[in-house]
Amino acid sequence: MKSRTATVAGATVVGAGLAGCEAAYQLAKRGIDVMLYESKPHYTSDAHSSDMFAELVCSNSLRADGLGNAVGLLKQEMRDIGSLIMQAADATKVAAGGALAVDRHQFSKYITDAITNNEHITVVRREVTTIPDDDFVIIAAGPLVSTPLANDISNNVGLLSFFDAAAPIVTAESVDMDTAFFASRYDKGSDYINCAMDETQYHKFYEALINAETAKMHGFEDSKVFEGCMPVETMAKRGYQTLCYGPLKPKGLNYPGTDKMPYAVVQLRREDSEGRLFNLVGFQTHLKFGEQKRVFSMIPGLEHAEFVRYGVMHKNTYIHSPSILTEHYESKARKGLFFAGQITGVEGYIESASSGMLAGIFAGHDILETTPPTFSADTACGALAKYVSGYVGADFQPMNVNFGIMNAINMRAPKRERKQAISKRALEEIAQITNGGIEK
Ligand SMILES: Cc1cc2nc3c(=O)[nH]c(=O)nc-3n(C[C@H](O)[C@H](O)[C@H](O)COP(=O)(O)OP(=O)(O)OC[C@H]3O[C@@H](n4cnc5c(N)ncnc54)[C@H](O)[C@@H]3O)c2cc1C
Repeated sequence: MKSRTATVAGATVVGAGLAGCEAAYQLAKRGIDVMLYESKPHYTSDAHSSDMFAELVCSNSLRADGLGNAVGLLKQEMRDIGSLIMQAADATKVAAGGALAVDRHQFSKYITDAITNNEHITVVRREVTTIPDDDFVIIAAGPLVSTPLANDISNNVGLLSFFDAAAPIVTAESVDMDTAFFASRYDKGSDYINCAMDETQYHKFYEALINAETAKMHGFEDSKVFEGCMPVETMAKRGYQTLCYGPLKPKGLNYPGTDKMPYAVVQLRREDSEGRLFNLVGFQTHLKFGEQKRVFSMIPGLEHAEFVRYGVMHKNTYIHSPSILTEHYESKARKGLFFAGQITGVEGYIESASSGMLAGIFAGHDILETTPPTFSADTACGALAKYVSGYVGADFQPMNVNFGIMNAINMRAPKRERKQAISKRALEEIAQITNGGIEK
């Protein structure tokens, strides 16, 4: 391949998103000079809107934070390894019950400042149009990679695609709090605004939702909707009560001061630390903007809601990692070329950052010619790397971290205890790797 983006840095990272920032940070921590290319503000995807790094394009939740959950475990592993993304998340978190949600502006600012002030990192605001020909390159241009680079990746390694969707955001002051109420499920705090519906209200809302007009999508016939981020209207069409067992589940959210459970509840989660903005949890949607306003305003409490962002739907792209990458996120065909983030087929903010962390660590060892650690599938971060590089089925799909992709544990105990034991085992492996500060 011809040299097209020359640099004298030790490593080149393309994309200052969650994966790219984490990868650059891990390299810099090891004393390696990094050239970090970011296309914003010259090229900005439809879903991105700020010029800062590590932008959260949809929900501000990084999901569950306990060790009884695989994504909670992944976060803890990343904290123990010394992840920048987790430092930023912990420093900018907002109240969200058992989940870790952040103030998205402060989160991005924390990371942007840490990256731009790092003496080993040079930021270049430029769209990269071809895979750089440098010795050590990490491509972390995300699921919405700009078209010229996507084409070059496609020509060199091949690209797949699927659909993903984002939820709308409303201002808190526009929610009618005479109808809606603050509460977390099972009285565990009061972090969410809840909009409860009785059966009549749900019926009207449901009929409007399934009959509402969606925006047109052209040319994406081969793409697929990712199950974990399914548009609310698509989920509704699966059955009258499907939403009531999913995002509109009323369990643990009785009408205030009563023991009466609503028929359905729409939850609104805080977007910023001041609590001025809230997103509609699980309401990723592809409805036309006018239809979103009409249908979502039928939700009790949202009759006069001010929508500061409507839901959107995007084509996402990812490579066929099982045939392209090693467990180090490195190209099998070209040594020194790494991929990181959602473009590898990991799914989610934290998973993307985790793959950036490992790609940065492994590229760093290659550059320094030192022996890399082994992150086995006993760990959540190792299991993800193994999943994307080792998947053997016919239909490779993006994957959130989960206990199912980790090594099973030989133990007869209730599910909850088994999960805790898996987490304990994982963190012991991470502790061995980081012992003496070698990786951290
Ligand atoms: C619409 C949408 C909604 C999503 N919602 C969620 C959600 O709610 N929760 C969740 O956990 N995950 C969500 N995801 C999935 C995923 O976790 C995020 O996309 C995540 O940001 C991926 O991280 P990344 O670092 O791989 O890519 P990104 O964070 O997108 O970073 C890629 C960076 O590369 C830059 N770039 C692109 N092309 C070039 C180029 N040619 N040259 C230089 N720079 C370039 C981009 O500007 C961007 O800054 C969503 C994805 C999409 C598309």
